[in-house]
Order: sequence, then structure tokens, then C-alpha cells
Amino acid sequence: PQYLFRLSEMELLERERQAKERRIRDAGFPVIKTLDTFDFKAQPSVNQELVRGLMRGEYMDKKENVLLIGNSGTGKSHLATALAFQACCQGKAVRFFSTTGLVTQLLERREEKQLSKFHQKLARLDLMVLDELGYVPFSKAGAELLFECVSKAYERTSLIVTSNLPFENWAEIMGSERMTGALIDRLTHRVHILEANGESYRLAESKKRLKRNDRKS
Ligand code: ADP
Ligand code: MG
Repeated sequence: PQYLFRLSEMELLERERQAKERRIRDAGFPVIKTLDTFDFKAQPSVNQELVRGLMRGEYMDKKENVLLIGNSGTGKSHLATALAFQACCQGKAVRFFSTTGLVTQLLERREEKQLSKFHQKLARLDLMVLDELGYVPFSKAGAELLFECVSKAYERTSLIVTSNLPFENWAEIMGSERMTGALIDRLTHRVHILEANGESYRLAESKKRLKRNDRKS
């Protein structure tokens, strides 16, 4: 019996491990990034304390959102992925979308008359990442479907949104001022805002590399 108990405990742990693996797989991360590879010194504009607080995951229980705003290459997607990965580890149901990828899927599902089924699936999530809002403008239908998605998530599913655009310019990609206002309203009702305003990490890295090569030659 002692032996049997130990065995089932091991089975339980194994099952938990498998469930976690499944949650990570289902989240659909394009690349996995974690916080331990994020160099806060390289991006001093990022509020480290806030990031570490968010890693605890309570924002999801309170259905709060996280917005990461800043120019390209400042680690927004990295941080969004690290937060979402941590959420998977904490037992949450997560989906990572590039915003344009999500809009494309919404348009396709609508075409196939599968939209409400897709929304039902999304409704089961604790956290949804909308990465890189702002690089590509949406069609009118695309913007409306995205707005619907954000509305449905409101106070039910936490959203992490990354964008290179300040709010003032969101209407340019959404097309409509009124819809953009309503979208920002829902997104920011309960929100943590992280700003990354430094130099691009990639650019800084390649500059360093160039300098090293210069010294060598
Ligand atoms: P953004 O989404 O803001 O455009 P990314 O998160 O895609 O930027 O970052 C670009 C690349 O640089 C990624 O490979 C990312 O892991 C890396 N990176 C960015 N900032 C940092 C940082 N502070 N520490 C470590 N790696 C970083
Ligand atoms: Mg990005």
C-alpha cells in the first residue's frame, strides 16, 4: 500500500507534466521565450518590477489585460511570450496569436460558418496574446471581427497586446475612429501598461558585433 501510494503519486506528477506540455503546445508559441533570457539592463525603459509582479499571474484571475507598447525590437514579443509561457506553467489555458494571424483566422472561420464555434473555443481561454497590432492595417470586416473578439474577451479572458503604435494611431489600422475608441476602452478598463522605448535589441546586438569585428581586423 505504501508502495502503491508512491506509485500513484508519481503517476499524478507525470500526468501533471503531460498536461503542462499540452498547454504549452496548444498555446501555439512561434518561439518559446522565458524571462531568464531577458536582459533588463539592455532595456532600462521596461518596468522590471511590474514584469516580475505580472509573472505571478494574478492579473488573469482578475481578468486584467497587459499592454506592451514600444518601437520595434525592444522585446515586447519576448516579454509577452514569457508571460504567456509562465501562464501555461501555472495551469492556464493560453493562445498566442499574431494579430494579423488571428484576423485571418476570424475571416476564414466566418467564411466557413464556423465563427461561433471558434468563439466558443476562445471563450475557454484564460489568456490570449495578440502580438504586433499595428504593422498591417485591417480590412473593414477584419477590424470588426477583431473588435468583436476583444469585446467577447472583456472581463472574461485576459489579453496581452503588443503594439509599436501609440493609441493615437490605432484608428489608422482599425479604419474607424469610433470602433477604435470602443476597443481601447475595453482593453484599458483594467490594464497594466508596459512601455519599451529604448533602442532595438537586435540593432544594439549587431552594432556590438560590428564593433568587435572592427577591432579584430
Ligand atoms: P519586439 O516584439 O518589441 O519587436 P522582440 O521581442 O521580437 O521585439 O525582440 C527581438 C529579438 O531580440 C528577440 O529575439 C528577443 O528575444 C530579443 N530581445 C529583445 N530585447 C531583449 C532583451 N532585453 N534581452 C534579451 N533579448 C532581447
Ligand atoms: Mg514583436
